This record gives sequence, structure tokens and C-alpha cells, in this order.
Amino acid sequence: METIQDELRFLGTGAADWSQPNKDGFYRRNAAALLNGELLIDCGPKVWDYADNVQPGALDGVTDVLLTHDHEDHFDLPALLRLADTRLIRVMCDAFARAQIGRHPRIECIPAVPYVPLRMGAYTVTPVLANHDVMQKGLRQACHYIIRTPDKKTLFYGLDGAWFLCPAWAEMRKHRFDVMVLDCTAGDADDWRMFEHNTVPMLRMMVHAIEQQQLLAKNGCILASHFARTLHGSHAETAAVLEQFHVRAAYDGMRVRF
Ligand SMILES: [Zn+2]
Ligand SMILES: [Zn+2]
Repeated sequence: METIQDELRFLGTGAADWSQPNKDGFYRRNAAALLNGELLIDCGPKVWDYADNVQPGALDGVTDVLLTHDHEDHFDLPALLRLADTRLIRVMCDAFARAQIGRHPRIECIPAVPYVPLRMGAYTVTPVLANHDVMQKGLRQACHYIIRTPDKKTLFYGLDGAWFLCPAWAEMRKHRFDVMVLDCTAGDADDWRMFEHNTVPMLRMMVHAIEQQQLLAKNGCILASHFARTLHGSHAETAAVLEQFHVRAAYDGMRVRF
């Protein structure tokens, strides 16, 4: 019997500071990912750069979009409107993004209500609040997403954010994740951004808790993304550090099957 596989493709793995490549020529676009070619997670200003220049047609099958929050590296209105040029799309987002999008004949906005699972096409999506700058400010909020695929696999997408909030962790403990994507914006140094993003030492502790509490499914894996250009060394250096605690460093174009 053929085994159905889900595929997560990283269209971008960088934080907001990648206006240019590293000295070694290595480059990351703003963090975004594509599940099975149809569910886009975040729609920042570089998703079309990926689709136009790296993998033509990458976004052709997108029908659903999850927006984590409205920081400009994650939500770019022209990029979203370009998707809607050629098809109907459903967008799960906060009230602030809904106000930006306004009325559009080919966009259906679905409110992201923390801890309430909702159907998005063939997927069941549960937003949980993220420990991030726009956590819950008026119309704005930042979310991580728990995504259940039609193949009954579970993905956790956790960019941007620092330590999980207690209600988020309580929701996460109800699941067994086949793939988790966690924030690793800051490197292995004390940095003030730790109050809304993870550093490497924080990620090490969080991964330990995730393993202790058995949140990973059998053969489940953890990847890190949203690396800041100015807070990490080379990709090889970061990958080697994360490998010490079984975390894979994502890179643009990386494909994970699960
Ligand atoms: Zn970001
Ligand atoms: Zn952000």
C-alpha cells in the first residue's frame, strides 16, 4: 500500500534583517513555509522572489494561507493580493490583518481564534498565542499553529516567539507532533530579543522539555528557523550547534517529508 506523505517546504528561513547575503554568499528570505503545495504559512515580501526565481510555480497550488502575525517580514499585503489575482484564497489571520485586506472578491478571511480548532480546506488548524511582541494588542495578535493534515499527521509551526505561554503549552500537550518548527532567531549569546524570540540555549532547554513530555510522535523531528543574519554565524556553524541536541537547521528550499 502506498504511504501518503506530507511535505513541508521552506520558502524562507530568515528573520527580518536579511536585506543582503552573508559574507559567504549564503542567503535567507523572510520565514515562510508551504505545506503540500497548498497551505502557505506566512506571506511576507519574499515569497514571490522564491516562486519567481527559485522554484517556478511553487505557489500555483496555494488555496489557504495562515498568517502568524502582522510584522512586515510575515505579512505583505501586495504579496497576498498577488496570490488572489488568479484564484480564491482563504486566509486565517487576526483582526488587524483582516482590516488591512478589507473586502476582496477572491479572499475569504477566517479569524484566528486562539485555542479553537477550525477547518481550513482539508486541514484542521488550531492557533495558540505566541510569546511575541504583538501577543495580543488591540486588533493584533501573534500565533503559532498546530496543523493536522488529512493524512493525520501533525505539524507545529512556532515562529515568531520566545518561551511558550502556559495555555499554548497546555494545548500542545494534547498533540503528538510529526514535525515541529521552532524559532531560533538569536544565536548562542545573551541578547535582549530573548523576550520575544528564542536563543540557542533557550531552544536547547525547550527541546529537552518537549522530549521529556513526549510531545514528539515516533520518528518526529524538530527544525529551527527564523535565523537572524546578525545574530548567527554561518549556516554550517548554526547547523552543527543545533545538531548537538537533535535539531535540524532549516534553509531556504529545504523539503521535509513526514
Ligand atoms: Zn519575523
Ligand atoms: Zn515578528
